[in-house]
Amino acid sequence: MHPSCTRPTMPEVTVGAFRRQAGLFATGVCVVTVQHEHRIFGMTANAFTSVSLAPLLVLVAFSDQAHTLTVLEESGQFAINLLSREQENVSRHFAGSARSLPEIHFEPFSGGPRLVGSLAAIGCAVDQMVTAGDHRLVIGRVIALSEPPAEGERPLVFWRGAYWRLPAGAVGPAPALEGEQIFFD
Ligand SMILES: Cc1cc2nc3c(=O)[nH]c(=O)nc-3n(C[C@H](O)[C@H](O)[C@H](O)COP(=O)(O)OP(=O)(O)OC[C@H]3O[C@@H](n4cnc5c(N)ncnc54)[C@H](O)[C@@H]3O)c2cc1C
Repeated sequence: MHPSCTRPTMPEVTVGAFRRQAGLFATGVCVVTVQHEHRIFGMTANAFTSVSLAPLLVLVAFSDQAHTLTVLEESGQFAINLLSREQENVSRHFAGSARSLPEIHFEPFSGGPRLVGSLAAIGCAVDQMVTAGDHRLVIGRVIALSEPPAEGERPLVFWRGAYWRLPAGAVGPAPALEGEQIFFD
């Protein structure tokens, strides 16, 4: 093989290398809330995705060590609170690593409590739970949607193991797609 054609060495498949590679996929951040016997539990998660349109299903991957998962198994319901760009410390708090105590308020919602200040909330009833390695995949049937966020509100973004904020004004659709929203089947 010509020297200029040599491929870069592929990294060894280790937990660390995998986490770094998977962390290149930019996500939003949510707090999953559960209410059980008058107590509220919350956990920061980015392993959240929509799954199906008929029926409407979403998925959250929980570590099998998560306290919130234990409570969720009891309650059978939860809410996904999509965090706004202002809520980095809220994310840190519900991941157990806040630098200072953020103000946290909940209001009643379907499935689980709504975290005040979040971009939007999705209420869910547990449809299935599947064990996958050291995680439990919780599939939820969507039972409620909060009102859409105000124009100009932005999500909190997680990428490469760090929080990122979309700038308030400068961001917009890619020029070629201006004005067009993309929905695919
Ligand atoms: C960006 C990011 C994404 C993550 N994604 C995932 C993921 O997809 N899946 C996953 O399993 N883990 C994920 N984690 C890790 C997870 O958030 C932490 O391991 C978390 O601590 C596990 O939560 P727990 O249910 O064990 O709750 P705990 O560790 O018991 O609680 C977490 C924190 O929330 C606080 N808290 C809980 N309920 C309330 C309440 N009612 N009022 C005020 N404070 C409360 C607790 O005081 C504690 O500080 C993520 C972490 C980060 C930073």
